[in-house]
Amino acid sequence: MKAKKILVIGAGMGGLAAAIDLARQGHQVDVVERSADVGGKMRQVPVGDTAMDGGPTVFTMKWVFDGLFEDAGLSLEDHLTLLPATILARHAWTQGGDLDLFADRDESAEAIREFAGSKDAAGYLAFCKRSAAIYETLRGPFIASQRPNPIELVARVGLNRLGAMWETAPHQTMWGALGAYFKDPRLKQLFGRYATYCGSSPFAAPATLMLVSHVEQEGVWRVQGGMAKVAAALKALAISQGVTFHFNANVERIETRDKRVSGLVLKGGAAMPADAIVFNGDISALGSGLLGPDVIPAARPVALPQRSQSAITWCATATTSGLALAHHSVLFSDDYKAEFQDVFTRQRPPQAPTIYICAQDRDDACAPPDKPERLLILMNAPANGDTVDYGQDAQTKAKESAWAMMTSCGLTLSLEHEQITTPHGFNALFPASGGALYGRANHGPMASFQRPGARSGIKGLYLAGGSAHPGPGIPMAALSGRLAAARLQADLDKA
Ligand SMILES: Cc1cc2nc3c(=O)[nH]c(=O)nc-3n(C[C@H](O)[C@H](O)[C@H](O)COP(=O)(O)OP(=O)(O)OC[C@H]3O[C@@H](n4cnc5c(N)ncnc54)[C@H](O)[C@@H]3O)c2cc1C
Repeated sequence: MKAKKILVIGAGMGGLAAAIDLARQGHQVDVVERSADVGGKMRQVPVGDTAMDGGPTVFTMKWVFDGLFEDAGLSLEDHLTLLPATILARHAWTQGGDLDLFADRDESAEAIREFAGSKDAAGYLAFCKRSAAIYETLRGPFIASQRPNPIELVARVGLNRLGAMWETAPHQTMWGALGAYFKDPRLKQLFGRYATYCGSSPFAAPATLMLVSHVEQEGVWRVQGGMAKVAAALKALAISQGVTFHFNANVERIETRDKRVSGLVLKGGAAMPADAIVFNGDISALGSGLLGPDVIPAARPVALPQRSQSAITWCATATTSGLALAHHSVLFSDDYKAEFQDVFTRQRPPQAPTIYICAQDRDDACAPPDKPERLLILMNAPANGDTVDYGQDAQTKAKESAWAMMTSCGLTLSLEHEQITTPHGFNALFPASGGALYGRANHGPMASFQRPGARSGIKGLYLAGGSAHPGPGIPMAALSGRLAAARLQADLDKA
């Protein structure tokens, strides 16, 4: 095979995984990244005299990263220290009550029995079985494979397994399906929240997304040294395979010749020729013309009503009192429907938001450090950051509603430093996304098939990242990169 010159635009999870696989196959791979280092959404935010994870905090589907390292003849464990969590998350409600979910399913069932009674504990075990079955049905044929259409998916799962396909329940909403397992509305809220891992509303997402719960059941890990170590480990792996990185290099234009990708031009004018390009930014940047007119047909931009959620985050150092935080804690609003109506219908930050907090310095013992601790505080928000920039008043209002929710759940913060990121800020970091953190929302039975696959509408241009198939989240974005590399290689083999 003749080695090709391949450019990867973006050093997020998808871009890194694609670069690693393509370099391993002998190609000359250059990664071109507009920021100063790898990671993309997996970014470190400076706060006071420290820095902290300001993006993903829940590490799951370790097998994806095991595979990436093993295929390069290396071991993930030699490059990253992963600590399995025994407490998956702590949950608290304004109406009262708190509940831990554990890595051990029976321990969770017992906690649910004490929290909501035997019926819901039995419902939880039945729910676990169902979410495991959905995941097993879709893991190979959908998640880890090139994007199928619905008919191809049925064929891949097997015509003799139509029952299993039916059980994935794309025709039912998640919220509707959860009623069969849980009578306590707080538990519906807890398990419905898994839809937000794809930036979606449980009231509109298909019940298929119940599989996310099983993904957590299979293991959640804390990363020693913080999530940025994951990106750093992939960067080191890429370099070991021969990848060259170009940072602070903003791609202004992708160019074509004879309807095929021919290279790119950086802001400042430098040109880089290429036989093929993998694009790891948000697909909307292509279709909206942000990467030049030649590649507008590459992918259709995601319009505001179809976008997944954005967020308002506060990266803070603080001391806490009252409710004892775990590493991951979720504080629930008492009207879940209103929260998603605010975000998706009224396009405004929720007036009574559910709050996620990652207490990054706490381990399974949940003890705070003896100095102000690092907290990532997150509330959902609409992905309209390309048209709306919250001014000081709106930021203050959002903070007041977030802090009121924490107070209602018994948590008090004494802030030392804070750094806010709004949807407008996320849109600036991830251009043309509107601040949507997960690409297209998974609303309705067909949404999962509407993300573009690895091949774009332009020859020689491939798509990798959370806005492409199979979707968002650290492992899924990495898988999309691997799928883009595989598709590109298959096309080269055919040529
Ligand atoms: C606050 C937050 C919390 C999250 N929580 C979790 C979690 O707990 N668990 C989980 O699994 N996932 C979580 N996610 C989602 C997860 O982080 C993403 O799905 C994943 O990291 C996206 O990877 P990606 O491959 O799409 O690349 P991205 O991270 O989107 O990176 C794309 C890269 O492309 C670069 N780029 C774009 N355009 C250009 C250009 N023109 N020129 C040069 N470079 C360019 C960007 O600078 C960026 O570095 C979270 C995300 C956020 C923001």
